[in-house]
Amino acid sequence: MPRKIAVLAGDGIGPEVIHEAVKVLQATGLSFEFEEALVGGAAYDDGGHPLPASTLDLCRRSDAVLLGAVGGPKWDQVQPPELRPEVGALLPLRSELNLYANVRPVKTLTPMLKESPLKGSRGKVDLVVMRELTGGIYFAKPRERRNDGNTAVDTCIYHRHEVERIARRAFQIARLRRHEIVSVDKANVLETSRLWREVVTELSVQHPDVKVTHMLVDNCAMQLIREPGQFDVILTENMFGDILSDEASVLTGSLGMLPSASLSDEKDGKVFGLYEPVHGSAPDIAGQGRANPIAAILSAAMMLRYSFDETDVAARIESAVEHALEAGLRTADVFTKGTKLVSTTELGDAIAFKVKAAA
Ligand code: NAD
Repeated sequence: MPRKIAVLAGDGIGPEVIHEAVKVLQATGLSFEFEEALVGGAAYDDGGHPLPASTLDLCRRSDAVLLGAVGGPKWDQVQPPELRPEVGALLPLRSELNLYANVRPVKTLTPMLKESPLKGSRGKVDLVVMRELTGGIYFAKPRERRNDGNTAVDTCIYHRHEVERIARRAFQIARLRRHEIVSVDKANVLETSRLWREVVTELSVQHPDVKVTHMLVDNCAMQLIREPGQFDVILTENMFGDILSDEASVLTGSLGMLPSASLSDEKDGKVFGLYEPVHGSAPDIAGQGRANPIAAILSAAMMLRYSFDETDVAARIESAVEHALEAGLRTADVFTKGTKLVSTTELGDAIAFKVKAAA
């Protein structure tokens, strides 16, 4: 049976980059069934809601979801705010589909080493940030103003099972990589962090092949700049992960090349996940053929690796991306003197060609 992929292209450059990702998936020779649905501003314009029930239903009926990006100035003033693309589509997608494990690989592609803000070999990074995505201070209640608005309250709650499930995922992913986890917390101050550390330590006993160390979040922020090469898998809670994953992603020097996965539980031995580029809808360049499709294409490769167990084909896509960059092909965001400026479609074509040729 072909694997069913829900394709939610979204807004701005979303459709442009997703088109290239689908092209590359088709070039693998594997059998897929693609079904498209509206999300974000496009869905709001069509039917008055950024996440129509039919779109959510398609996601639930699929083996994986490929998402472009949502949002743009056209919908920034939509009232009520719950109907704006980011709030009305992205957050509910995560919670409705129980996507609790956000996985962001940050890898410097060798031809792009010069683009890193860190100079020389220090800029060579190959790590994964695993961020808990549906718990912690972004979701717990009470969250309110008191005392005539002069006091603000946020609450951070973590339950043992929430830490356990993301930590188990981190061990699985570490086993696909260099078998090292740095668990990041603030256990010197926060009770939630002490629980976090306790649970991760307990689980580490069951995974003796994975080396686990603990690091305080402030130290981790510093170490990412001082010596990012020391990290394999960084495992952390929602807010720390939000901040650290953005810090880590800038180390490669290009937003248009960073993929991500948000994973749920295993169903019949398969991991359900939503795969999307880290970048947004880039309204400033939408419709001009200037978007870099690599983040979307690498997100599709993550889908093959994590949801479909097609590690070799995923690696084939990743090496086709490196090959295109080595050949000097660049979209405008990463174009430098001496390289060849190409459009979104031209870069997608070159990568798809290489993927097909290597089949
Ligand atoms: P953005 O990521 O869309 O763009 C930031 C800058 O990076 C822009 O200059 C853009 O041109 C450039 N850029 C981004 N992706 C690129 C690519 N693939 N190729 C070449 N250049 C690229 O962030 P923003 O400008 O802060 O947000 C624009 C809209 O996207 C907003 O409505 C925001 O809310 C939304 N957004 C959506 C998501 C999502 O859907 N997951 C994530 C972030 C932002």
